[in-house]
Amino acid sequence: MKVLVLNCGSSSLKYQLINMDNEEILAKGLAERIGIENGLVKHEVAGKQKVIINENMDTHKDAIRIVINALVDVKHGAIKSMDEIVAVGHRIVHGGEKFTSSVIIDDEVKATLEECSELAPLHNPPNLMGIEACEEILPNVPMVGVFDTAFHQTMPKSAYIYALPYELYEKYKIRKYGFHGTSHKYVVNKAATVLGKPLEDLKIVTCHLGNGASLAAIKHGKSIDTSMGFTPLEGLTMGTRCGDIDPAITTFIMEKESLDTTGLNNLMNKKSGILGISGVSNDFRDVEEAADNGNERAQLALDLFYNRVKKYIGAYAAIMGGIDAVVFTAGLGENSPETREAVCEGLEFLGIKIDNVKNKVRGKQTVVTTDDSKVKVILIPTNEELMIARDTVALVKK
Ligand code: AMP
Repeated sequence: MKVLVLNCGSSSLKYQLINMDNEEILAKGLAERIGIENGLVKHEVAGKQKVIINENMDTHKDAIRIVINALVDVKHGAIKSMDEIVAVGHRIVHGGEKFTSSVIIDDEVKATLEECSELAPLHNPPNLMGIEACEEILPNVPMVGVFDTAFHQTMPKSAYIYALPYELYEKYKIRKYGFHGTSHKYVVNKAATVLGKPLEDLKIVTCHLGNGASLAAIKHGKSIDTSMGFTPLEGLTMGTRCGDIDPAITTFIMEKESLDTTGLNNLMNKKSGILGISGVSNDFRDVEEAADNGNERAQLALDLFYNRVKKYIGAYAAIMGGIDAVVFTAGLGENSPETREAVCEGLEFLGIKIDNVKNKVRGKQTVVTTDDSKVKVILIPTNEELMIARDTVALVKK
């Protein structure tokens, strides 16, 4: 059973074709510069040379057509005909309060997604464009929507309500939603397997540390809190996002710097975080290198980042009444031993003992704590596409 997984951004489209009989990736790629000149598709098929297709794409429909053509191409394709694609799984950023799990996409779902677009104006419209393009190109293929927010819908109200006038929640649904849910769900399930215990018996903090970063407190398999909020801006310091700040700073900056709401949003989402503090880059590799070469602001940016992650781990241990494991995943969590070490330093009181030799690992599932460490720290590479494909198969089979 072959499933196509799509992740549509405003000008890009990531895809994977997965054979769900053995969960093998048959093909994957990225279409870039949709709606802009010099469009290109990077396409890779297992066992074949990577190809770059230079072709302009006015819309997501053009991009999907090129991707399908590439998938069935005699030379660099992975399947003989597009009839082999049994289902399509779409990554959807915001499911609002409506979607607590993945769903088969129909007209009603699409209408609800439009309603949620107000909550994720940058992400949901391109997700919808991808769905509509697929409907035209693969008209009889069932499609499933998998939401970044769904896994966190188990949070108790006391965790997701902001202390603003309650009417604002009722009127506009202003509340914490949380994101990266597909990743948190994937790694926490893997962690239970690594620990050899049922998820229902475990309290785990998952740290998805990439350019966007969030933590989740997962008690007995359910997300009970997470660091991102109404939008992905809340929580940790990120590549270019400020994370938690005193909300009064926003109006102060608007006045002092004569910024309107767009300007302020841009400043907090694109110019802040480790880029804003270090002045070097939003890429942790560059910032780590600059810090190693004595750049004090780069070091400050990293220290602030580590400190935030540590604070959230402590807070989540407190609300869960202890922890059994901490999981690190995503670009930085998987590839930076320095980050894992710095975050866990000083957490010995919680029962965490990092093994500095085991921790010198990148991108490979590993328990990086000592054998006698009460709380295990585990590096688990995330795989959101596989999670989407699994949900897709489960729903289509029903
Ligand atoms: P993601 O958003 O999950 O793709 O993660 C991207 C982030 O991971 C970027 O800031 C990268 O700098 C960081 N990253 C990837 N590889 C490494 C590495 N080897 N060392 C440090 N950071 C890394």
